[in-house]
Amino acid sequence: EQRGGRGREEYESSETMDAHQKVLERVRTAFHSGQTLTEQFRRTQLMKLMAMIKENQDEIVKALHSDLKKPKFEAVLSEVDILLNDLTFTISNLSSWMQPESASTNLATKLDDCFIRREPLGVVLIIGSWNYPLQLLLLPMVGAIAAGNCVILKPSEVSATTGSLVAELVPKYLSQECYAVIRGGAEETQELLKNRFDHIFFTGSKGVARSILQAASLHFTPVTLELGGKSPCVVYGPVNMTAAARRLVWAKFFNAGQSCVAPDYILCTSSTRDLLLPALKEALWEFYGEDPRTCPDLCRIVSPQHWTRLRALLEKTRGRIVIGGESDQEDKYMAPTVVVDVSEDDALMAEEILGPILPILSVESVEEAIALINRGQKPLALYVFSEESSVVKTVLEKTSSGGFCSNDGIVHMTLPSLPFGGVGASGWGSYHGRWGFETFSHRRACMLRGWALERFNTLRYPPYSDGKLGW
Ligand code: NAD
Repeated sequence: EQRGGRGREEYESSETMDAHQKVLERVRTAFHSGQTLTEQFRRTQLMKLMAMIKENQDEIVKALHSDLKKPKFEAVLSEVDILLNDLTFTISNLSSWMQPESASTNLATKLDDCFIRREPLGVVLIIGSWNYPLQLLLLPMVGAIAAGNCVILKPSEVSATTGSLVAELVPKYLSQECYAVIRGGAEETQELLKNRFDHIFFTGSKGVARSILQAASLHFTPVTLELGGKSPCVVYGPVNMTAAARRLVWAKFFNAGQSCVAPDYILCTSSTRDLLLPALKEALWEFYGEDPRTCPDLCRIVSPQHWTRLRALLEKTRGRIVIGGESDQEDKYMAPTVVVDVSEDDALMAEEILGPILPILSVESVEEAIALINRGQKPLALYVFSEESSVVKTVLEKTSSGGFCSNDGIVHMTLPSLPFGGVGASGWGSYHGRWGFETFSHRRACMLRGWALERFNTLRYPPYSDGKLGW
């Protein structure tokens, strides 16, 4: 039987505000009981989360196929394996991350025990997006559990089948007292946000992020924002075109371009473009065959609304479609598409594309590419393809972005040792591995002082005199 596809009516009847409140009270009581504080508890829950993913991999793959027609390979790589890797890394480092960090002292504090204690924040809300509907909920949850928090997960209603599977599995495997899933769309999430949380971790669009910030401001709730933006890709100087095209096509059309870190547009000279285009065509043919529509390795657009938005972009662009352009509304299909002669004020450059459309903008020099990037908001990722290390270094040093990768795309975010997140308009804060643990921890400054040296203390007590401190 198919899961998902629940309408708003169903959310309203089964998960009313009262029901939300009951869940939140239960979870807050569990937090205050202190049960999440021990290393043993956290480790057990992380192991259970791991078992949940491993034992239900087939169900997960099916749900992702139903939501996005995600190929099994992409589902396992980008939603299952990335989670299992982060879990393994976190479980093996948990004990050392939880240790108090000793702080250096000075003459006046020499006898004190000074240290930083990582403490859980409390009950945290994790709001997910639809493009990697499992990863974007559970990967932040790994950090939140490791740091000893209780968690409310709010999956995206757009990827309803995966959301429903998460709601079914989480209570089966994890502590029901400490963790819960609450489903719903914009309206239900707004209701949920009226409650006080100790942290909100949001993945999604800039527009919704503003309303999350507003809601959070009422309770002074700290917020992590994982947003998107237009991630540029500079191709400059001598480049192995075959390898560059394969890596670019993979990074761009993985998940049908619906990745927050997909290269959004290419910046190169017109002579590089003329070499790159046949290589892109060749790579697309190698990956998806003569007719990508019949290829099982290409995702579909997540919803009719998103398909319509992308189709409208193709209709509005003043650029020339040189590869692809075909689409089918019924099937939510859009062919991998490359558009050239795109100008900075084109419709394709107005917003993050988040779909299988790749515009190419011509620039005369690497400086011009850098200036164009720096006129826009700071992106989530920035890519540069070049065999000249000085070009890579120049782009790295003269720009800012959440993450940076040379001569490939997306792969930098697979490492749990690197922080994943944006900067400025592409997001606030980061996670993955230790960075997730830190995001969901309060670093409490502690000084344990005894009773010694009271005579020394009298130096700072009134009555003051300059002579006391030797001035
Ligand atoms: P969205 O903002 O529409 O939805 C995100 C979440 O917010 C969903 O759970 C949704 O139910 C909820 N929501 C929607 N409207 C709301 C409202 N008015 N009030 C409260 N909650 C509301 O975003 P989306 O379409 O799911 O995601 C697309 C965006 O997310 C893109 O910009 C993409 O780049 C970004 N993204 C970023 C990352 C990252 O890790 N940085 C990952 C994936 C997607």
